[in-house]
Amino acid sequence: MKKTNYKYELHHLNGNTYYIDGPTNCGLYKLNDTDVCLIDCGTKEDGMIIYELLKNNNLRLKYIILTHSHADHSGGCIYLEKMTGCTIIASKVERAFLTDTKLDIGFLYGGYPLDEYDNHLMHTDEPSDILSLSHIPQGLRSFSLPGHHYQMIGIRTADDVYFVADTLGSKNLVDSQHILLIYDVDGYLRSLDYVESLDGKIIVPAHSDVTMDIKDVVKVNRNQINMIIDIILTFLEIEHTAEELTAYIFEYYDLKITYNKYMLISTTMRSYLSYLSNSGKIKNYFKNNKLVFLTVEAFNDKF
Ligand SMILES: [Zn+2]
Repeated sequence: MKKTNYKYELHHLNGNTYYIDGPTNCGLYKLNDTDVCLIDCGTKEDGMIIYELLKNNNLRLKYIILTHSHADHSGGCIYLEKMTGCTIIASKVERAFLTDTKLDIGFLYGGYPLDEYDNHLMHTDEPSDILSLSHIPQGLRSFSLPGHHYQMIGIRTADDVYFVADTLGSKNLVDSQHILLIYDVDGYLRSLDYVESLDGKIIVPAHSDVTMDIKDVVKVNRNQINMIIDIILTFLEIEHTAEELTAYIFEYYDLKITYNKYMLISTTMRSYLSYLSNSGKIKNYFKNNKLVFLTVEAFNDKF
């Protein structure tokens, strides 16, 4: 998951477009000689480092565009807003998630969360005021990147650089985590196709190296999804509940269970089950008041 030695340096990409490396790669677009717009701002700790970086480069932060509400992208915005008075911008649904820390945990858990869940897992604080995408400054354009979170966006700069947030993870991230958080599997696959179609452009993923050759890392991510689908389809040759599938995945990948890990994997498994059922690859039905899932072949043999 971790790249070695984050330097938090400002790297020039093209024209007025830069990025700051870190656990979450953040974009920086120069609006003029002094004013800049950030694309994501990392965690609170990252935000503090980025503030110093901007100060040392005599850059004035005017805007932060948040690709989505997760804490590793948005956690620094309260600090940066407080220090600079910058304007924060996000999509409609992500704004809602950002303004209530319980909302995302309730969304992932599927009900009022247990006290054991970490409310700060996905968010840190509540920003005061977040504006809509119609306030994105000139030179930048948002585009939809469904899949990872409810209404995640990417940003294209006038210099033809694409910031694609959490559309994909690095090979290391995929190999070490196995299951990346997905809300909408169909949307995720479409976003991967879109990012692949940008091959040859400068692409900045949040958690993978900046590249003009994105094809290989797209392939790693797509293959992993297809592998998870195969694992699920094999498991569902016998009927199982979503809860049983989650337990199986923990066992399969030998993952250490924690409340937060359980929440992230169980919500992602439910998304996979919906995708497979909605696309006709598995059947779902009630048995003994439990919702169970079974492959179409096994279902046809059985009924
Ligand atoms: Zn995320």
